[in-house]
Amino acid sequence: MTDISNIAPRDKAEILAQALPYIRQFHGKTMVIKYGGNAMTDPELQADFAEDVVLLKLVGMNPVVVHGGGPQIEAALGRLGKKGEFIQGMRVTDAETMEVVEWVLAGEVQQDIVGLINQAGGKAVGLTGRDGGMIRAQKLRMVDNADPNKQHDVGQVGDIVAIDPSVVKALQDDQFIPVISPIGFGAENESYNINADVVAGKLATVLQAEKLVLLTNTPGVLDKNGKLLTDLTAREIEELFADGTISGGMLPKIAGALDAAKSGVNSVHIIDGRVPHAMLLEILTDQAYGTMIRSH
Ligand code: ADP
Ligand code: MG
Repeated sequence: MTDISNIAPRDKAEILAQALPYIRQFHGKTMVIKYGGNAMTDPELQADFAEDVVLLKLVGMNPVVVHGGGPQIEAALGRLGKKGEFIQGMRVTDAETMEVVEWVLAGEVQQDIVGLINQAGGKAVGLTGRDGGMIRAQKLRMVDNADPNKQHDVGQVGDIVAIDPSVVKALQDDQFIPVISPIGFGAENESYNINADVVAGKLATVLQAEKLVLLTNTPGVLDKNGKLLTDLTAREIEELFADGTISGGMLPKIAGALDAAKSGVNSVHIIDGRVPHAMLLEILTDQAYGTMIRSH
């Protein structure tokens, strides 16, 4: 924990009091938070994140956590002598990779986050998209970004068919904090690996969330010169797609974010998860962080 003993009591009180309007405004509102993957790097930041989630819950908001797991999946694949392959930001998922994805996400990453939140005094419940029949999916038909006549086969990568949020609602109406692994199920009960940002975006829409916060390992969306873009509209995003400024994992992230913004989620932010308590700063202060995604 950072040492704050040299901050004057008067300033501490002022800082706390300034959170009040946000606590009032967001009371009872759902906040969908994408965590994990590349933002889940160091133990101290993880503990800070868990504290932030518990604090939001205790002041009356409904945080829902969706987690990723890119680096953790990569490490597990490496132990099997495999290396991940990506096409347009999506992990090519053969049957063996799907098995690894399932046990790393649901078995390892999700349970780590559940444990941390519980340690911070919350009551987290881990779920995959199978639980409560939450995330129905089908095989993603990926069209090439440059050539609409070309398709890519990315294996068991899922495209969301529908989300039934009833299990999440039941949990959040009680005192629980749902922690969701982005795994969907198909018509034949087969498993699908779905990009966590896409799940977070869709879930925020279905839950009519107030905010969608995507924590990642960059300061936000960067322009060609590496400068932070604090604000992006749908049209600006199209231009960034077209000129190749956005690539890799940022492609599904922005797609998920824009989808949520267009579907009525009030505020959508891509922020730097490497900053301690980044989420708390975003939600409970008037300072702008990272990139805000706007529908128009
Ligand atoms: P996460 O685990 O947070 O989903 P990803 O690796 O999937 O992380 O996506 C974030 C990555 O997207 C960044 O680390 C960066 O390498 C890449 N990226 C591509 N284009 C951009 C851009 N214009 N601005 C910021 N990051 C970008
Ligand atoms: Mg990603």
